Amino acid sequence: MIDQKQCEIDIEKVENTKIHDVDFDKLDFGRKFTDHMFYCDFIDDEWQQPKIVPYQAMTIEPSARVLHYGQAVFEGMKAYKDTDGNAFLFRPEDNHRRINISAARLAIPEFPKDYFMKGLTTLIEMDKDWIKSGDGNSLYIRPFVFAIEPAISAAPAEAYRFMIICSPAKAYYTDKVRVIFAEEYSRSANGGVGFAKAAGNYAAQFYPTRLAQQKGYQQVIWTDANTHEYLEEAGTMNIFFRINDTLVTAPISDRILDGITRKSIIQLAEDNNIPVEVRRVKVSEIKEASRNGSLKEIFGTGTAAVISAISAFEHGNEVFEIPDMENAYADLLKKKLVNIQQNQSVDKYGWRYEI
Ligand code: PMP
Repeated sequence: MIDQKQCEIDIEKVENTKIHDVDFDKLDFGRKFTDHMFYCDFIDDEWQQPKIVPYQAMTIEPSARVLHYGQAVFEGMKAYKDTDGNAFLFRPEDNHRRINISAARLAIPEFPKDYFMKGLTTLIEMDKDWIKSGDGNSLYIRPFVFAIEPAISAAPAEAYRFMIICSPAKAYYTDKVRVIFAEEYSRSANGGVGFAKAAGNYAAQFYPTRLAQQKGYQQVIWTDANTHEYLEEAGTMNIFFRINDTLVTAPISDRILDGITRKSIIQLAEDNNIPVEVRRVKVSEIKEASRNGSLKEIFGTGTAAVISAISAFEHGNEVFEIPDMENAYADLLKKKLVNIQQNQSVDKYGWRYEI
């Protein structure tokens, strides 16, 4: 049971804001942080008093379990501001649900919904000036939880810290990207942690992604670990293929993250009379569709870039170019989603959450 009184947040405000030191026109993603951060510790089987304090370095012991066993999960979400200065989150309750799904898989205690929502909205309200209105501007929000217990036996920790930090962002990945379909490495496996936003999933992708970058590609598109025959997910995005007029995307499984952008795009496509098939997608099918001209688009979906269009892919040492197209679904669906996120169109789905 959550004690409502305990859900009150202890707040310590900064004396002077850092906002004037930040050039909002030249933001390198994820390097500048707002004035405050939220945290809440799990000790003695309970979440303790949540706090908001000035963003600052913190100490953990060298034996903190997260540093040895990677017991950590996180979320990525955004806040937007409309032209009247009202701030909005996008489907924040889904991020709460998902961080707890991730946490359960890593044997981390669930974080209560009222703590999450109150921490999030109070923090955003305090740092609202850091959200700029206008196309592509947003505040990237990073909730995360990690094992702080100082003990290096390989077992789940008994103490954790849940935190939220925020970083102002401009749109990124606006250019189309070139990708390589994975033939050797895998990001996830049956019965594994691919569906969780586990910190280690990302660390394990860095090396194969670097190899792809050395060959001139920006991203790896992950295939299933068993056969490498089915296309599953991009590094931090779900993936869609347009074959003739139909959008195709892989079903969610224990290897694939249940992307909030993915499910929003499926809904928007269906409501705009775009046929959507959620089914497994073979590498050979996409290569054949590219050869016969029926492959019109490939794009990734995710919070950071919303939609990121792909201009070429490599597989089996063969490069397949995807010609630009007019009235691309990527542009149409991105616009529809961004308009909902930024309060420029009616939100019949109830996805927008006003702060
Ligand atoms: N797949 C992976 C592996 C991701 O890290 C992300 C980013 N959270 C996504 C897909 C897209 O998810 P969302 O649309 O919820 O950002």
